[in-house]
Amino acid sequence: MTTGYVFHPEYLWHDTGTSAGLLPANPPAGIQPAVHIENPEAKRRAHELIHVSGLLAELTVIEPRRATMAELLRVHTGDHVQHIKTQSDLRGGGDAGDGFSPVGPGSYAIARLAAGGLIELVTAVARGEVTNGYALTRPPGHHATADLGMGFCLFNNIAVAARHAQAELGLTRIAIVDWDAHHGNGTQSIFYTDPNVLTISLHQAGCFPPDSGWIRENGAGDGTGYTINVPLPPGTGHAGYLHAMTEIVLPALERFAPDLILLANGFDANVFDPMARQMLTADSYRAMTRMLTDAADRLCHGRLVAAHEGGYSPFYVPYCTLAFLEELAGTTTRVTDPLAAVVAEYAAEPLRPHQKAVIDEAAQLVSRIGAHEIAAAP
Ligand SMILES: [Zn+2]
Repeated sequence: MTTGYVFHPEYLWHDTGTSAGLLPANPPAGIQPAVHIENPEAKRRAHELIHVSGLLAELTVIEPRRATMAELLRVHTGDHVQHIKTQSDLRGGGDAGDGFSPVGPGSYAIARLAAGGLIELVTAVARGEVTNGYALTRPPGHHATADLGMGFCLFNNIAVAARHAQAELGLTRIAIVDWDAHHGNGTQSIFYTDPNVLTISLHQAGCFPPDSGWIRENGAGDGTGYTINVPLPPGTGHAGYLHAMTEIVLPALERFAPDLILLANGFDANVFDPMARQMLTADSYRAMTRMLTDAADRLCHGRLVAAHEGGYSPFYVPYCTLAFLEELAGTTTRVTDPLAAVVAEYAAEPLRPHQKAVIDEAAQLVSRIGAHEIAAAP
């Protein structure tokens, strides 16, 4: 088994500028300039830890390329692609759409390198050159819709890769699991009526986007039943997430029987994250990853491809990333979570009744996958 790895220094050059957290700096309005919350540090440190731990030497490095216009247009409108290019050409940069998603000078090319990196990785997996893989890309993608950049996302990398897999690689049925702490609204909207793409999002209820990702959002038309949302209460930890994986993600994958599993891999459900209020530890990500790799082995020849999304604790995201990637590659390194003792009590956070109630309600949706087709069969 081999694991592919995509990274490029340009991913760290996507310049989100200065801000107060996520508000653009505006001294006359009293908004003090500081580093933007979506800055390179967490990802830079994650890549460095992958290198220094020795894990990089065990991975198959795959060079990214820039996604072509035709590849972007499988998902995005021409107006949106042109908007990102126009903003990127401005000397001071601009915004991808919602006012909270900076586009730095040259970010158009970097965003294409992120989407194209994931395309190259999916291609290597489809050809059997590697078993699975991870793209430590930036900017992130899962909030971007067909025609709008939002939530720090410019292009929806994972959607572009999914459409490429269908169009060029003979992988028809694609499951997208999204465990970023925020709702994968962009991915959901792109595939909402498509029964060949199952999207499952585990996220903090009502966090971002504010009114998005509820259980009732279950797909439409032919895609009815192929969108699943698990809006977890704030404070959900290791036991809660594992319950959601066991009761919803794994049975949904079994029922859907994908040719490929894609993972929108945000680490912002970690207990130290400033952008969400969940309680996962590095070991939580390791355990969840093992569940997904086991499912991929059973269902689709191990084909699991992950794309980096959110994760805003510069000091803890690297250890979550390392735990995830060790598990994906089926190995361990000499580096263990140095904060394990600190997070031990969080890790012991039990499944609370109000969390179980949400998960059990969402689990009812699993039986709707394929229900239309089964009903329609002669
Ligand atoms: Zn997020």
